[in-house]
Amino acid sequence: MERIVLLCLVSTCLLAVHAQKLLFSPKWVPVGYKEREVRGDLTAMDEIIKANEIHAPQFIDSASSLRDGDIAVSTGRRSKVCFARICLWSKSVDGFVYVAYRLSPNYTELESRMIKRGMESIERGTCVRFVPRTHQEDFIDIKPKSGCWSYLGIRGGRQTVSLQNPDCLRLGVITHEFMHALGFVHEQSRFDRDKYVTIMWPNIWRDRLRNFEKFRTDTLDLPYDYSSVMHFGMYTYSQSGEPTIIPKNSNNIRLGQVTSLSKIDKLKINKLYDCDDMD
Ligand SMILES: [Zn+2]
Repeated sequence: MERIVLLCLVSTCLLAVHAQKLLFSPKWVPVGYKEREVRGDLTAMDEIIKANEIHAPQFIDSASSLRDGDIAVSTGRRSKVCFARICLWSKSVDGFVYVAYRLSPNYTELESRMIKRGMESIERGTCVRFVPRTHQEDFIDIKPKSGCWSYLGIRGGRQTVSLQNPDCLRLGVITHEFMHALGFVHEQSRFDRDKYVTIMWPNIWRDRLRNFEKFRTDTLDLPYDYSSVMHFGMYTYSQSGEPTIIPKNSNNIRLGQVTSLSKIDKLKINKLYDCDDMD
């Protein structure tokens, strides 16, 4: 009898400790980040999450907050041409889509060069051209605010792309944020993603479950792109180090990308903006 009482007491204590852990768990840190970095297995999104979970608040200011880890959302009014809920930069008569930008003077020369490399990486094989702002009303204002984030598509007027130095100044991160500014959501947010990947809900850090919601946008009739720079990694937001996204029908597929755009990412740009392939 005493033994049973003792056992009950011990299990109650363990339960209480567990509950306390859940309720008062310290700030989440990216589990297994170091190991994956050593293995060379990180994605641009892993870099972004690391920077944002440490630096970026979930609310950028009183009118904007972050969705899906790094997409700034505000309640502002839209007046642009929009397609499938995303507003597009306009195409010039010469067939190019010019995106005017202003680069903060707070970046060093080396950092500015890195950001420009990101722009060139998007321009190669696509109809997008980044041009320093002269008189344009609509432009992206690239600055080292807290974390790495961007608004989705064109907003009209000045819109911030935050690339904090040095954490966000990696090619994959820079191109990822520019892709958001051009109007692309994360690849695994596609509404047909369940045909291609399994979301392992129990393994996801519970405070960030919403970052795995689907987004009703156009797939542009392009194949699901496992290696998109816009794809979360296999362990993104893992609570315990277990995978949060598993590709269906294959063990050999790598999710995401750390360096730059995939071939399909470039096709996506040309299709969304109705440009010819420029290879
Ligand atoms: Zn993103």
